[in-house]
Amino acid sequence: MRELDRNIITYSIKELCIKANYILPEDVRKSLNTACENETFPVAKNTLGIIIDNYKIAESENIPICQDTGLACVFIEIGQDLHINGSLEDAINEGVRQGYDQGYLRKSCVSDPIKRKNTGDNTPAMIYYEIVKGDRLKITLAPKGFGSENMSQIKMLRPSDGIDGVVDFVLKVVEEAGPNPCPPIVVGVGIGGTFDKAALIAKKALIRDLDKRNPDPFYKELEEELLKKINNLGIGPQGFGGITTALAVNIETLPTHIAGLPCAVNINCHATRHFSITL
Ligand code: SF4
Repeated sequence: MRELDRNIITYSIKELCIKANYILPEDVRKSLNTACENETFPVAKNTLGIIIDNYKIAESENIPICQDTGLACVFIEIGQDLHINGSLEDAINEGVRQGYDQGYLRKSCVSDPIKRKNTGDNTPAMIYYEIVKGDRLKITLAPKGFGSENMSQIKMLRPSDGIDGVVDFVLKVVEEAGPNPCPPIVVGVGIGGTFDKAALIAKKALIRDLDKRNPDPFYKELEEELLKKINNLGIGPQGFGGITTALAVNIETLPTHIAGLPCAVNINCHATRHFSITL
């Protein structure tokens, strides 16, 4: 069994927190640049230009892309033949603590949803564990702002609602969100599983590269159809109108019960931030 020192995990998480908040991933930049080239409405084109300038300034001056540096969402894929000396959870939280401190990132986590006292160091991280084959540890860090998180919804559709029910629900969620999630948005859709699993895969869909479509041709087509319909809503960049409301729709699916069709929509903003490392 391979051994991995927990200090390496802490260091990697710290670096990922800073990098993910300062640098927009290549696929998101490409998508924003293409959207700006193709946008026909002058106000929308200008707004996209400002968003592009903003991410360039953030990277060159080592400052966050947005003031909302998010909750630290950490996706862990851990090989079943890997042993970590010490608590993995503690190692992750220590990395978040150091990253948000050393990167001068806003601490946005409250310890209790009702009493609302800030924890002061942006911990605990929101951690999603997956056990996989092998002896490696893959970490993906995705800071999640709540302007977009708050606009997300889930619905337990009936099986008879079918694909039309899914399309109507996704469009309704995006329309109701309007300018609040800082468009152009990325739309993560989770279909199937249980109530909680649908939400989980919708969130996971947001860390898939924007230029990678679902490998199943049926869902690839649905992603493209939904993107077209969302961009026809005319919400546009920051809600000023135009043809660029979303950059991508990423759908993930799971098997589900004969009596159900769970559908979750997790929205991300133009600051769709995520970086990975494999240890
Ligand atoms: S939704 Fe995104 S761009 Fe808007 S404030 Fe939150 S993190 Fe920033």
